[in-house]
Amino acid sequence: FVNNIDEFFKFCEENEVEFVDLRFTDIKGAWHHLTYRMSAVNAENLENGFPFDGSSIEAWQPINKSDMILKPDVPTAFLDPFTADPTIILFCDVYDIYKGELYEKCPRSIAKKALKHAEELGIADAAYFGPENEFFIFDHVEFTDNINEAGYKVDSEEGEWNDPSRFDDYGNMGHRPRTKGGYFPVQPTDSMVDLRAEMMLLLEEVGLEVVLGHHEVAQAQGEIGVVFSDIIGAADNVQKYKYVVKMVAHLNGKSATFMPKPLFGDNGNGMHVHQSLWKEGRNLFYKEGEYGNLSEMALNYAGGIFKHAAAVAAFTNPSTNSYKRLIPGFEAPSILTFSSQNRSAACRIPYGAGEKATRIEMRFPDSSSCPYLAFAAMMMAGLDGIKNKTVPVGPMDEDLFELTLDEIREKGIPQMPHTLREALEGLICDNDFLQPVFSQEFIDTYQHYMFERQVWPDESRPTAFEF
Ligand code: GLU
Ligand code: MG
Ligand code: MG
Repeated sequence: FVNNIDEFFKFCEENEVEFVDLRFTDIKGAWHHLTYRMSAVNAENLENGFPFDGSSIEAWQPINKSDMILKPDVPTAFLDPFTADPTIILFCDVYDIYKGELYEKCPRSIAKKALKHAEELGIADAAYFGPENEFFIFDHVEFTDNINEAGYKVDSEEGEWNDPSRFDDYGNMGHRPRTKGGYFPVQPTDSMVDLRAEMMLLLEEVGLEVVLGHHEVAQAQGEIGVVFSDIIGAADNVQKYKYVVKMVAHLNGKSATFMPKPLFGDNGNGMHVHQSLWKEGRNLFYKEGEYGNLSEMALNYAGGIFKHAAAVAAFTNPSTNSYKRLIPGFEAPSILTFSSQNRSAACRIPYGAGEKATRIEMRFPDSSSCPYLAFAAMMMAGLDGIKNKTVPVGPMDEDLFELTLDEIREKGIPQMPHTLREALEGLICDNDFLQPVFSQEFIDTYQHYMFERQVWPDESRPTAFEF
């Protein structure tokens, strides 16, 4: 909406803006903000930045080196559709005053460095990313009468889910979709039509190009399709998308979640990521007549991601819950091969795309990741694959969910890690390909933080299943 500081002030005046909301992303992908009065914002602080306490953001600065600077990216300005008073939001990068450069633990800055790295290698001058973030909308219900937050009755401590084979036990569930029955009956079974419509219109208002919305396969699951963008724009869009989806749900008395596997036995939430590299206006992933019209470079890019999958997963699937989604039978593949049109392979090549639309779709990532880090990690692995001409296993066009463990082993097909611990251990052993874009200090911090925060609490707690 604005290109520079002059246009920014003009836009604010026209829209009678009262507040300037500065937003930045932490290493978990959570969005943070602080709000300035319009009268306190001027060309100078927009240029030089705004101070904040970097020690109160998890895994960032120590208390004795806590002063940090937020540098607004002015052309990202957009009006917050949810505030009572006109408020303009600005994406910010974090600046490290001690080193005099962009902060090594600021995810948005890391993604910027990753793109610069691709340019410096002379491989590409643009990287396009198209994330697809799925979500569930749950009712707010009191935790009484054995009803869980999904609105389903549970009758044991283990929290049995609403298995349709036990339909009678629970009485009439009305027009709810059954397990895996969400794709996509009309209303009243699809009860989220108006919610998605509200989301789609607001997403457009904040600058995303919306294509479609639909119910997804699982009960209470939805997805809104948005046009791809460059690496930073696409990650910024994920932050806006999650904000809009969660806020619309919230304002309608519901709760949206992007967690990878909220319900046992039904599909989970993916963040498939479509990717292509470009140079001088040409799509480097396109080669007419080859399998899926994919170039050798595209295959090497996929090969690099597969080779470094464990370390990459630490960023694309960074929660203990992520690995409950990556199991056969739920369209969330962990088998590291590529295939045209095949949703059981980690990498799908969408059908029938010409030069402009040819791309690969990585299907394992999920929205518990920080989009800036997830995209940057995949791109760094892909670039490494291009440099080393890494060849992926494939193509494999059969239903890979049908393969037994023995067959997977016999055929020598690599797999995603099975736990967050494996992913973090992968990151510890294999991180040269990420450097210098991801610093060693950042990798160490990230790995420690994720381990302490999730792996250790998860592994050290006895569960009901162990009795
Ligand atoms: N929900 C599936 C997943 O967990 C994906 C379904 C689809 O292909 O859109 O990745
Ligand atoms: Mg989907
Ligand atoms: Mg997809």
